[in-house]
Amino acid sequence: MGKRRTILIGGLAVIAVVAGTVAVRTATFAPTDIADGSDVRLAATPTYDLQAAVVHLSAAAQIKTISHQNAAQNDIAEWDRLHSWLAATYPATHRAMTRTILPNRTLIYHWPGSDTSLAPIIVMAHQDVVPVTEGTEADWKYPPFAGTVAEQAVWGRGTVDDKGSLIGLFEALEALAAQGFQPKRSIYLVSGHDEEAGGAGAVGAAAKLKADGVRALFTLDEGSVVLRDTPVINGPAILIGIAEKGYATLQVTANAPGGHSSMPPAETGVTTLARAVLAIAESPFPVEMRGPGAAMVESLAARKGGTTKMAVANQWLFSPILKRQLAASPSTAAAFHTTIAPTMLVGSPKENVLPQSATALINYRIAPWNKSADVMARAKAAVGDAPVELSWVKPPNEPSRVSSTSSRGWRYVVAAARADAPDAVVAPFLVVAATDSRSMESISQDVYRFMPMHFTLKETAMIHGTNEHMKVDSFKRMIDFYARLIATSAG
Ligand SMILES: [Zn+2]
Repeated sequence: MGKRRTILIGGLAVIAVVAGTVAVRTATFAPTDIADGSDVRLAATPTYDLQAAVVHLSAAAQIKTISHQNAAQNDIAEWDRLHSWLAATYPATHRAMTRTILPNRTLIYHWPGSDTSLAPIIVMAHQDVVPVTEGTEADWKYPPFAGTVAEQAVWGRGTVDDKGSLIGLFEALEALAAQGFQPKRSIYLVSGHDEEAGGAGAVGAAAKLKADGVRALFTLDEGSVVLRDTPVINGPAILIGIAEKGYATLQVTANAPGGHSSMPPAETGVTTLARAVLAIAESPFPVEMRGPGAAMVESLAARKGGTTKMAVANQWLFSPILKRQLAASPSTAAAFHTTIAPTMLVGSPKENVLPQSATALINYRIAPWNKSADVMARAKAAVGDAPVELSWVKPPNEPSRVSSTSSRGWRYVVAAARADAPDAVVAPFLVVAATDSRSMESISQDVYRFMPMHFTLKETAMIHGTNEHMKVDSFKRMIDFYARLIATSAG
């Protein structure tokens, strides 16, 4: 009796300690080291003509700087047309800034600052757009290259990705230049000609800036937005990309004797390959609560409160439940592990021929805490001694560095973004696609990926899809944001 009573009291004591710890940790929980930018004094936003800006975006959307899969199909004259059009449309900017056109049509603009001891800033937006998928042209409400202005929006390929950003930057710079703005920090605008086809232009621009001795305070590029219906909080969040995933494609090759399919051996190239691909796909990278994804969850949970905050504040106890929830949806899980996507398969060229070589391609998006070497090691371990060869289709892009969420650059970006959406939560974000900004890592203290467009999750489908359009409301937010950010950080 006495012993059982002791155990009971002991058990109750443990529960009390756990409950107490959970309560204290929940009450005192705050996201780690994420500055809110409230110490930044924002410069005033210059005035400009929004209707004229809308007409400019419409004109830019009509210039067909289309990056094709095969670059030989690109119409280079369209890039030249865009350059002349920019020069004619933004005269004050072209007086204030020097323009360098690299041979491949990537642009570098430079507005020299008055204080050369200050690190410059780099703003980016690419010139090219993706093609419209053949056969889907008729699905567009307005033709994809007409730049139609209707329903309080500009419609067309590239109005969001990324000419909205490019023209937004030029509108902001023009307004500042026209009003006599003189930067203290140097301002660089880098506009890649081929972001949608590998981003070699940005690599070259970064090399040139490095040779010129540029070491920037921060780089700002596309990559994330203000999401109106953010999961967890069901409300708006300013999601600022502080890192982007790496990219690699693995080729799996099964070599086999081949021959006539009427007398097949027990194992053909196809069965060997299939087993190897399955083995790799069934050895996923674990979902982990770390990196930018974890910082985002912390920020959202702190706002949400209740049991969500309790769980995130007490991962020592709730980690398995959290990880299960994150892993449940592929779009969420992508921020918390390296993803494995088998995408292409090739066997023999004919149905009655055994393959002499069967190949599969597997596309990986590498989390910031992994390297391509980890991917290769995991794939090798998964296939074991199966008779297959593993190789990279081309050299992998390693994941980017993770930028600071408390540096001066971060605080400038956050303050400029919050001015327009004071009720939104600020949260760091992991960009799962690639942007040109990764090329600036070696010449920039921090790299951020953010455009202040207001999007719902559903609306993100128009990027690279059908009916891409820039709402005038979002376009205005972009111009205001860029002007505010440039005037504040460089002024
Ligand atoms: Zn883009």
